[in-house]
Amino acid sequence: MKKHNFSAGPSILSQYTIDKVIEGVRDFAGTGLSVMEVSHRSKEFVAVIEEAQELFKELLNIPEGYRVLFLGGGASTQFAMIPMNLMKSKSAYLNTGAWAAKAIKEAKIYGEVVEVASSKDTIYNYIPKNYSVPDDADYFHITTNNTIYGTEITEDMDCDIPLIADMSSDIFSRPVDVSKYALIYGGAQKNLAPAGVTFIIIREDILGKVDRPIPTILDYRTQIDKESMFNTPPVLPIFAALQTLRWLKDRGGVVAMNKYNKEKAALLYYEIERNKLFKGTVINKEDRSIMNVCWVMEDEYAEYEKEFLDFAISKGMVGIKGHRSVGGFRASTYNALPRESVEALIATMQEFEAAKA
Ligand SMILES: *Cc1c(COP(=O)(O)O)cnc(C)c1O
Repeated sequence: MKKHNFSAGPSILSQYTIDKVIEGVRDFAGTGLSVMEVSHRSKEFVAVIEEAQELFKELLNIPEGYRVLFLGGGASTQFAMIPMNLMKSKSAYLNTGAWAAKAIKEAKIYGEVVEVASSKDTIYNYIPKNYSVPDDADYFHITTNNTIYGTEITEDMDCDIPLIADMSSDIFSRPVDVSKYALIYGGAQKNLAPAGVTFIIIREDILGKVDRPIPTILDYRTQIDKESMFNTPPVLPIFAALQTLRWLKDRGGVVAMNKYNKEKAALLYYEIERNKLFKGTVINKEDRSIMNVCWVMEDEYAEYEKEFLDFAISKGMVGIKGHRSVGGFRASTYNALPRESVEALIATMQEFEAAKA
């Protein structure tokens, strides 16, 4: 049976990415070796990392003055590297979810953290607005897409202090005005590549302002100087990321992706509202994520939750169980998820409705 992969992360990749990785694992760039067994300093692999950096710049229209890094450690390591490298004494954070909260926890190791607003009291089901950011903070950190709760900040905000964004789960889903950010980062395993590589887009002029000693490998300046090769970078995930970037470019880049993603999400949100059995968890329409769509059973049909999940699994749906902190269901509609998968999920919801309501 055809599987429809709605997993939140690691998650669906384009068939192009998978096919090209299989080829490269067998024979990389005509070397007669697997991409897993060549030197990261070989000219063939250096060409891979350089093309991946160039495609980042091209697809996101990254201005001069920024560098693109591919490191290990996941987005979670960035939670610590950011304050270590950039926070003199005070930083500001918007608390929109568990990932934001984890970033805040690490920042508190290095100084004062101002939580400018939080939606924690309602299990993070909206994006706080009308908060003020202290202008004496060294930076302001946001999470643009809250993977667990299905909320998203889709407009690039103006900020008087350096703006930092965790874009783990919405990078390349829409055009981004990179010039508004001092640093953008994310784990690649949501919308780009298999787990193992973390992307960082950093404006160089924000560095070198803190006095604390920084371990060499955790200092962004080291990674910039060494072109992400201070130690052995995650070669295979970077190779896979390059394939996704080529696929993205071929599909029309982030503008085309954004249109496609909006259409997919709109179909699903429409069905959740229409269907008698279900209701969405994010009430404000403008806060709804186009990457992770969350919903639950209507109260009167709550008893059918497990049954619907099993039914959906029997129809080939994968990964639609909601995060334990939210319950219900979550369908991740990342770039590589085809519209047909959304249509198949909707048909499943309608079939279940016909049987129960
Ligand atoms: C998945 C996720 C993370 C964690 O990424 P790791 O690479 O596993 O550390 C952080 N932030 C967001 C928004 C995520 O979706």
